[in-house]
Amino acid sequence: MSFKSLGLSEPLLRAISKKGYETPSPIQAKAIPPVLEGKDVLASAQTGTGKTAGFTLPLLHYLSENPKQKFRPIRALILTPTRELAAQVYANVKEYSEFLNLRSAVIFGGVNQKPQIATIRQGIDILVATPGRLIDLQSQGALSLKRIEVFVLDEADRMLDMGFLRDIERVMKLMPEKRQNLMFSATFSKEIKKLAYSILNNPVQVEATPENTAVEVIEQKVYRVAKSKKTGLIIKLISDGNWKQVLVFTRTKHGANRLCEKMKKAGISAAAIHGNKSQGARTKALAGFKSSKIRVLVATDIAARGLDIPLLPHVINFELPNISEDYVHRIGRTGRAGASGEAISLVSADETTYLRDIQKLIDTKIPVEIVEGFEPDPNASTEPIKQGQNANRNRGRNSNSNKSVKSKNSNRNKNRNRRRNNDKRN
Ligand code: ADP
Ligand code: MG
Repeated sequence: MSFKSLGLSEPLLRAISKKGYETPSPIQAKAIPPVLEGKDVLASAQTGTGKTAGFTLPLLHYLSENPKQKFRPIRALILTPTRELAAQVYANVKEYSEFLNLRSAVIFGGVNQKPQIATIRQGIDILVATPGRLIDLQSQGALSLKRIEVFVLDEADRMLDMGFLRDIERVMKLMPEKRQNLMFSATFSKEIKKLAYSILNNPVQVEATPENTAVEVIEQKVYRVAKSKKTGLIIKLISDGNWKQVLVFTRTKHGANRLCEKMKKAGISAAAIHGNKSQGARTKALAGFKSSKIRVLVATDIAARGLDIPLLPHVINFELPNISEDYVHRIGRTGRAGASGEAISLVSADETTYLRDIQKLIDTKIPVEIVEGFEPDPNASTEPIKQGQNANRNRGRNSNSNKSVKSKNSNRNKNRNRRRNNDKRN
């Protein structure tokens, strides 16, 4: 299978080879043909499997092969849940369209809207946007979606998790009824199917499950440790192991900041990434981490999800997530593309229930170790940190992205509420 045999045009093939891709990934091979045929498509495949090119390449092909002369109304809209993802998708659009006569722009909140409006005014074919800023600029009359021919909903599961359903519905009303719709998602839950049903017309459904699922190639380890000794232990692990690119998860924004400061004091370059950080700070942190200038990136779940940070050797859960499914998403950041990785969790007594639930979800007993000098506190309570939030933990949302992850029970509403609470914190 080659990109050429998928029927993509010469300028696209040139951009693809410039990017260094040799063969289409499984989800690309499955999604590109029906998108090229103009069909509505629902595609699901794990994070990191190349979904962006799966919709961008055929979209660019269509737009360039069917040019609109004279003026440029916005013909394609790509909706993504976060600023980082919007920027990432936009960067891809730019790269793949390098040899085509197409113009694109990206808009998201948290930055000055004036330059965004100015770019749109000049005429663009493709708009990458987050829902908030899109609706904002549309209602100001700065842009029109009346000429949209292709609508892409990227990271659809994340969109739902972040509570963007209403916004999506609003955006849909702004577009002409006759259009092509594409929906891409990492997971394939009942909610996603429901959303797909309301957005897509006779969709072709494609899925790709990697042979080696994440959990199987990731070496998981739990360190039992006293809560007060976690910072000391994480610094020791990173220093002793001389680990270079470490993604650390904390449960709260403040926790992320605090840990980041302590790391820096210990001489380990670190940056935090979460919802309270300015766009500039987040972009800078991510760039520093990717280029290995920053050794440790401390993130909350929301901030990290969907980010394209390839092949991380080490992921550390400074705290376990209270939603078991987030554990799977977190450790999915290591061992991507089949390379092996290590996922470490620092677990204090009050996280015992979380650990039990996670092990139940992934159907695996994670090996436990204790490091001398960082022993768990024998007197600490095993009660979860916040009572009342823990009922019906981790049920439902069966993620298709992982074979070995089994969701045994379903209690979606409660889970969604918990998630909403979590989002506020992130
Ligand atoms: P997803 O949206 O599925 O999480 P991305 O589209 O962000 O994945 O792609 C993940 C990484 O894989 C990116 O770094 C991208 O450049 C790379 N990639 C995508 N397609 C290919 C390909 N065909 N060959 C090699 N690398 C690819
Ligand atoms: Mg993606």
